[in-house]
Amino acid sequence: MANQASNHKQALVIGGSLTGLLTARELSDHFEKVLILERDPVHAAPESRKGQAQTRHLHGLLANGLIIMKEYFPGIDDEFKAGGAFIGDMGEFIHWYQYGAHRIKFKSGFISMSMSRPFLEFHVRRRVLNLPNVTLIDACAVNELVTSPDRNKSSVCDSQNVQARTMLKSMKQI
Ligand SMILES: Cc1cc2nc3c(=O)[nH]c(=O)nc-3n(C[C@H](O)[C@H](O)[C@H](O)COP(=O)(O)OP(=O)(O)OC[C@H]3O[C@@H](n4cnc5c(N)ncnc54)[C@H](O)[C@@H]3O)c2cc1C
Repeated sequence: MANQASNHKQALVIGGSLTGLLTARELSDHFEKVLILERDPVHAAPESRKGQAQTRHLHGLLANGLIIMKEYFPGIDDEFKAGGAFIGDMGEFIHWYQYGAHRIKFKSGFISMSMSRPFLEFHVRRRVLNLPNVTLIDACAVNELVTSPDRNKSSVCDSQNVQARTMLKSMKQI
């Protein structure tokens, strides 16, 4: 979708894992600024981190997830492949062992990929942070959500991270 930012000024995403990153990608079409706050330190590398579910595990990116990622980030499947990800028909390449026997392989028509979770997240994060209106602040735990007294304004968060506090303050003044 073309960038449609927007009627809306700013969006805050708490958590910079896969859901947070993909949410930020979608919001970037509708908000002038999108800020992601992530508790873990995050570097520009495919590294494992504490808050990453399934970190250091092999990750099966199922067919629909791959379709959605390709829509959001054209060519990302080529980046996955170039980095060593495995791609294939799910019915053909998965060895499915159940109830004491291997299931028969078949052509399902569903194309999926397999790679490590840090590798997947690194590529998605790189694409999201290339968007001019998306910022990620890492090492920033959100402690609390605070609404304005009239509950009319967007929620703001209270964090000990100085950079985050400064940015949130400036966002409130927009
Ligand atoms: C062993 C295992 C194997 C799996 N295998 C697969 C698989 O093969 N394929 C598949 O599709 N799915 C798999 N999953 C599921 C998949 O990992 C999860 O669905 C996915 O991680 C959910 O992503 P998320 O972004 O919603 O949440 P999470 O990955 O839990 O991310 C939450 C993020 O928020 C951050 N955060 C938390 N609290 C705060 C705070 N207070 N302030 C700021 N940031 C905060 C965390 O650091 C983290 O980055 C597996 C899960 C496990 C546990």
